[in-house]
Amino acid sequence: MREMLVDSYGRVVSYLRVSVTDRCNLRCVYCLPASHRPPFLSNDNLTDLELARLAALFAELGVSKIRVTGGEPLLRPGVPDLVRRLAGIGGIDDLSLSTNGLLLGGMAQDLAQAGLKRVNISLDSLNPDKFRQVTRYGDLEAVLAGIDAALAAGLSPVKLNVVVARGMNEEEIGDFVRLTEDRPLHVRLIELMPMGETGFFSQERWMPLPEMMEKASPLQELPRDAWPLGHGPARYYRRPGALGTVGFVSALSRGFCSSCNRLRLTAGGLLVPCLDAAEGTDLRAPLRRGADAGEIRRLVLETVQRKPERHTLLERASSLSPNPRLMCQIGG
Ligand code: SAM
Repeated sequence: MREMLVDSYGRVVSYLRVSVTDRCNLRCVYCLPASHRPPFLSNDNLTDLELARLAALFAELGVSKIRVTGGEPLLRPGVPDLVRRLAGIGGIDDLSLSTNGLLLGGMAQDLAQAGLKRVNISLDSLNPDKFRQVTRYGDLEAVLAGIDAALAAGLSPVKLNVVVARGMNEEEIGDFVRLTEDRPLHVRLIELMPMGETGFFSQERWMPLPEMMEKASPLQELPRDAWPLGHGPARYYRRPGALGTVGFVSALSRGFCSSCNRLRLTAGGLLVPCLDAAEGTDLRAPLRRGADAGEIRRLVLETVQRKPERHTLLERASSLSPNPRLMCQIGG
């Protein structure tokens, strides 16, 4: 029988974000330092079998939603096989993936066949030169091909994650909104967060939600039943007559901790109770020394009890002291 994971504030935890690699083929200015070198020991990462065992255990504990993320998850060898394993676990009824889209063109079909339902693609500029500046290495054409391939493979919804920062891409908000008009693309405008010691976050660059919304107008607010699947913390709007939607995700201006239903698992098997948490619980060591399901379950329950009431990103933003953990380590 399925149980329920309930934290000490009464929130039900039903969503696991799994980072499957720390590696990334981009160095987005707000996410990773240019000099970042990930550890290359691939046996530090949980194997497909270990991930599937943990995912099944989480499903028994009431987790119904899994997002595969990273680093860049499509860099992990054999990721469609991993997706197939996760998709086959009873109780997981929403399996999604976050990617920068660079490799998606050649993989979307395989991923859909493996059981992936939907995808979020990160894209911060529609201008090739600007895109390269923001990502340091990215090829915009490849990401656009990835978006086409995702739609052609029937992944739905296809969401585009756009981190908005002043002086980076604020003038493109209108262009992103227009992308939703003719195709079923769901653009999510995301507030910059003080994560990782990248030197990027500042009060000047941080564009609070009301300003983003003003630049995206005119928009009509959508009733909840018209929001795209897996809406999480976003609120959704639409340009009149558009096929897609525009969502806003704002961890700072309009925090969503009171409804947080998430846990995060790093590629190395650390279970983290909050994006902003200083510590987590190592599940890899017990798995590798043969811990039984009961022991792992106890560790998960203890971690859920340590979920803080709220993150401290607002305080970090005003004191300009970002959480030292990089987004690619914790899975975004
Ligand atoms: N490589 C995948 C991708 O690009 O989607 C998954 C990992 S990436 C760390 C996940 C998401 O975190 C991306 O949409 C990225 O833009 C977002 N992100 C990274 N650093 C951020 C920050 N400081 N503030 C807000 N979002 C951030």
